[in-house]
Amino acid sequence: MSAPFVIIGAGQAAAQAAVSLRAEGYGGEIVMLGDETHLPYQRPPLSKAFLAGEMSADRLELKAPNFYPDSGIDVRLGTRAVRLLPAEKAVETDGGIRIPYERALIATGTRARALPVPGADLQGVFSIRTIDDVARFRAAAQAGAKLVIVGGGYIGLEVAAKANKMGLDVTVVEGQPRVLARVACEDISRYAAGLQLAHGVRVLTATGVATLTGTDRVSGVELSTGAVLPADLVLSAVGAVPNVELAAEAGLAIENGIKVDAAARTSDPCIFAAGDVASFPSALYGRRIRLESVQNAIDQAKAAAKSMLGGAVAYDPVPWFWSDQYDTKLQIAGLLDGFERTETEGDVAAGRFCVRYFAGERPIAVCSVNDPRSHMLARRALAAPLAQGSAA
Ligand SMILES: Cc1cc2nc3c(=O)[nH]c(=O)nc-3n(C[C@H](O)[C@H](O)[C@H](O)COP(=O)(O)OP(=O)(O)OC[C@H]3O[C@@H](n4cnc5c(N)ncnc54)[C@H](O)[C@@H]3O)c2cc1C
Repeated sequence: MSAPFVIIGAGQAAAQAAVSLRAEGYGGEIVMLGDETHLPYQRPPLSKAFLAGEMSADRLELKAPNFYPDSGIDVRLGTRAVRLLPAEKAVETDGGIRIPYERALIATGTRARALPVPGADLQGVFSIRTIDDVARFRAAAQAGAKLVIVGGGYIGLEVAAKANKMGLDVTVVEGQPRVLARVACEDISRYAAGLQLAHGVRVLTATGVATLTGTDRVSGVELSTGAVLPADLVLSAVGAVPNVELAAEAGLAIENGIKVDAAARTSDPCIFAAGDVASFPSALYGRRIRLESVQNAIDQAKAAAKSMLGGAVAYDPVPWFWSDQYDTKLQIAGLLDGFERTETEGDVAAGRFCVRYFAGERPIAVCSVNDPRSHMLARRALAAPLAQGSAA
């Protein structure tokens, strides 16, 4: 009897890979190792409806609990993979168990980047990556409390919107000259900052954080200007880092994440990787990319499952992403880094518009604000060269 397929991680990509392995007809044993104590769940609501208590935990679950035993998927929660041994084709867990594998999939995702300032370990300083993080944050987030959010990216702004609704007094501090600076053009940044200001959230841009002050508990945020913002709670939202350590220690190639090819294969023929942790070659953008999105976790995991079974796949997606802030839905199709000019269409004042991004004459991305039709059309249009390429 051959060894199982072992999936390391129990998040979005892991769950999809298990589902897809069964859908592709794999009848062998599947073992899934997850270091959290929750069955695979979706993370986007953690900074949206779930944060505000508008959604219950069971609605986060990607599959009903009985799906896994019914499908013969052995999910081992609270179990961390601590060593990957490619030469022996085995994974070691923190409980000292050695599990042999026929094929392994690494789907370990990312973790919140630590805030690199003194005081970041004080009580009252949070990041939001897991259900348990949200539970801790919610327990401390009393109405009227002063919350300082460090980082004006998607997660920072989404939490600002919900915390504002929960009655907290919110300030966002962003080091770049504008919010969403790495992921959007000035029009979108201005719009997103304006939304926060209109709801009474303070937004400080081009402002660094020097220190978090307090004895045991955080009580203030000292800015690079020397000013101190009083704070009962601080949310660190300064990005994520891929969990590559297991792969790196096993000698797998790493390049901004675990390096995989278009078939989700790592540098070891029996080990695959998918989701936030993997970087892959994009023909569409002419370089290696690593995406942190639900779209990528699902689609790359589907590709990985096929590939693990020996099927031919060439994963080369049009990336897409969304963010909900107040009543605004922001949707992004494509990647906009490297854009040279933009065209804005629609009614910015009415909050329904889209921005098209071009590198030379080539469209590379579209950001839509409350304009789902433009988003869908953009996804199709951006995919057209890929479809032509595969037909050629
Ligand atoms: C607050 C928040 C909001 C988001 N909002 C959006 C959004 O609006 N739209 C969007 O497209 N994307 C959003 N994302 C991103 C999206 O959730 C991720 O891209 C997606 O979850 C990635 O899936 P994954 O399976 O690669 O990783 P994850 O879902 O993070 O799963 C990885 C799992 O592996 C576990 N693990 C790590 N190391 C080990 C180990 N050694 N042994 C065992 N288990 C291990 C981790 O604890 C985790 O449970 C959001 C993310 C967060 C945190």
